[in-house]
Amino acid sequence: MDPEVALRKIIHIDMDAFYASVEERDEPSLRGLPLAVGGSRERGVVMAASYEARRFGVRSAMPSATARRLCPDLLFVKPRFEVYRAVSEEIRAVFARHTPVIEPVALDEAYLDVTENLLGLPTATAVAKAIRAEILERTGLVASAGVSYNKFLAKVASDYRKPDALFVITPSMGPDFVAALPIGRFHGVGPVTEAKMKRLGIETGADLRAWDLERLRETFGSAGAYYHAVARGFDERPVRAHRVRKSIGAETTFSEDTAAYDILAARLAPLFDKVWAGADAKGMRARTVTLKLKFSDFAQVTRARSLSAPVADRVALERIGLDLLSGLFPLRRSARLIGIALSGFEQGEKEEPLQLGLGL
Ligand SMILES: [Mg+2]
Repeated sequence: MDPEVALRKIIHIDMDAFYASVEERDEPSLRGLPLAVGGSRERGVVMAASYEARRFGVRSAMPSATARRLCPDLLFVKPRFEVYRAVSEEIRAVFARHTPVIEPVALDEAYLDVTENLLGLPTATAVAKAIRAEILERTGLVASAGVSYNKFLAKVASDYRKPDALFVITPSMGPDFVAALPIGRFHGVGPVTEAKMKRLGIETGADLRAWDLERLRETFGSAGAYYHAVARGFDERPVRAHRVRKSIGAETTFSEDTAAYDILAARLAPLFDKVWAGADAKGMRARTVTLKLKFSDFAQVTRARSLSAPVADRVALERIGLDLLSGLFPLRRSARLIGIALSGFEQGEKEEPLQLGLGL
């Protein structure tokens, strides 16, 4: 392993039951009750559940009808994203006091590289403690923190004793810790993969480690290399402070969900205009077109195409966008939102003209 990678100090911060905790903070009468943030309607979805609700088996991304069956007294509140976003900015300000190397993953979650920390605290654990205390003081909310020597283990650590926990996985603990870890607790192993692994006799990290790279690739495709690495406690992905993900996009949410191609294509038409006009006005020429569909259960898919030359005009944008859309058909569920974006911009400035040599 690269010695610099071995010396990294990474913290993963994850707010506990974030949306639900904000609602409890702002409405004390909700405290201690089983609470779900999300839509209570027939086709609503739970976006976050308080720990009280989780006791009944209520989970985020669960259909609200299912949640209500599990917990008949479940209280639903509508999400207030503008409040969550404001809290998110406050916690990022706390992170920024300690390190410039911050990779936000969600409104309530981020990786920090604190190999060098701005306040000169002696250890990463001390930084994590300070961050948790500052978040509580500034927002009245509780964060869990995981401290380790890579992102994978920091993420596992923040989840390990949640809620209201700080957990550290040191380099000497790492391999044994991963070996004992149930496969379902590996970040990147979802319920479907977990079931598949269990059918194959993989219950823990130790079982996973017994599989060689080739067999993992054959069985799990491109994820095989990741499983091979993390089964050994390896993860060399850096914390990415500045995601260069400039894009110009537009999206629209439907009043009624639909799975009909014609309707979706018609909804895209004004978005092509808007996005093309936006890029054109800035003189930006993009090589990548990305289509996004969000479904009624809030799952989403994106499809992108990158060209060797910039998208020439609005007609070309439309042709690529519709092609990406038709590639998603037939849809197995209805969509609630469609979006299109341009990215991969060419540098705007012209090349410097060649300096004609005057001779020596
Ligand atoms: Mg969270």
